[in-house]
Amino acid sequence: MLRLVKIGVEGEGPCTDVMEINRPGDLVDIANLGLTLSEARRLLAGVQREVVAAQIKEHAVRRPDCSRCGSVCRVNDYRDHAMATLFGQVTMRLPRFRCAACGGIEAGVGWPSHCRSTPELDRLQAHLCAVTTYRTAADLLEQMFPVDAGKHHATLRRHTLKIGEALGECAAVRPETAASAIVVTLDSTFIRSCAEGERHLEVRVGNVETQSGGRQVFGAVAKADTDIRALICRTLEAVGRGGDTALTAFTDGCPGLRRLLADAGVTARPMLDWFHIAMRLQHLKQIASALPVEDPARAEAKTVIIAEVERLHWRIWNGKARDARISIDRIRAVMHHFQGEPDGRKSIAPSRKLWTALQALDRYLAGQSAWLADYAERHRAGLRVGTAITEGTANFLVNRRMNKSQQMRWSRRGADLLLQVRCAVYNGTLGSGFGQKFQPANDTYPQMAITA
Ligand SMILES: [Zn+2]
Repeated sequence: MLRLVKIGVEGEGPCTDVMEINRPGDLVDIANLGLTLSEARRLLAGVQREVVAAQIKEHAVRRPDCSRCGSVCRVNDYRDHAMATLFGQVTMRLPRFRCAACGGIEAGVGWPSHCRSTPELDRLQAHLCAVTTYRTAADLLEQMFPVDAGKHHATLRRHTLKIGEALGECAAVRPETAASAIVVTLDSTFIRSCAEGERHLEVRVGNVETQSGGRQVFGAVAKADTDIRALICRTLEAVGRGGDTALTAFTDGCPGLRRLLADAGVTARPMLDWFHIAMRLQHLKQIASALPVEDPARAEAKTVIIAEVERLHWRIWNGKARDARISIDRIRAVMHHFQGEPDGRKSIAPSRKLWTALQALDRYLAGQSAWLADYAERHRAGLRVGTAITEGTANFLVNRRMNKSQQMRWSRRGADLLLQVRCAVYNGTLGSGFGQKFQPANDTYPQMAITA
């Protein structure tokens, strides 16, 4: 039997029986060991009810003063208030008061009369919804905690979006000292839209980092309520942008993003993020290594191609992208050895894939030539060559949660608000007490840059 005893300054007070625990003493079946989940949940709910009841008793004796005339109030009647908590729904019988002098009605002292759930439950729900689907979050909460409210995924979604809305109204908390330098990266990606006549929604995501390791991520769906320019400004403020802060910017190369940065007061010329070049080069290397070698001529051509792809990588990394053409031409010169290579039953022939990827890279480099940097030189000087989020900000922030399955379709507003919650979780600003969520794995320098 579990019994709660109230111990005050004057010693032991009243006690209440919470629940009976009756577990077999026989441990032949190891499943008998300790509490079961359902017992633990009932226990938590029981303790919660008793703790709340004790709190209500104390709270109810406090008498408010009339807000109109300041006279003393008396109890008028009692009202039931239902409140959802992480440990079950509790019903609280609270007094309403009437002013003895003017007859005005007062709620209890400091009572948030419109509150229907505890902030802790709200935050945990939002946190789970930010990292997994609404359905999974609802399941998880129901299985682990004695929650009664918000079991349905649609309810969880509604609560989470409300928190996302509130986050948009929060001002940035400026750190005490200004940052000497900030790196900001801005990317775009797409998610599927649930609206008719609209296939995709554009999502802009970014990441700001200071030299001392401060980091914040941000994101907004284009044409939704969140103004990305204001968001960039606010995020820069949050990591300590001051008058003398040196700003370095990287983008995925989209001209629209460069404009957004300029509008947000990031006037430094944005460089093309090495991450995006590295992804293309990696793709090229994978295709090259899959080329067939069934005769000596092809084997020799493949060796040339692999070596030239490596050289291409070296050239771009070392700021010699203008010479990329030389490597591309050398690859073209031996490509004829793979002519007539048949497509697989389900796949395009590697040589054709290589050809397409090469042409795409050639076009990309030509279009981005003004925004390329000497990445090797920057790297040697200890400067950033792009985002430090290994898998890329877009993948980390958006794809992991919002693009996982092809069936996931989003409304503009829903995706935008969920993204605000997701960013807050990773920035440690949701206040869930779980702290900042950047794992060391995301902090390591991009491997592709190091091996360049
Ligand atoms: Zn009064």
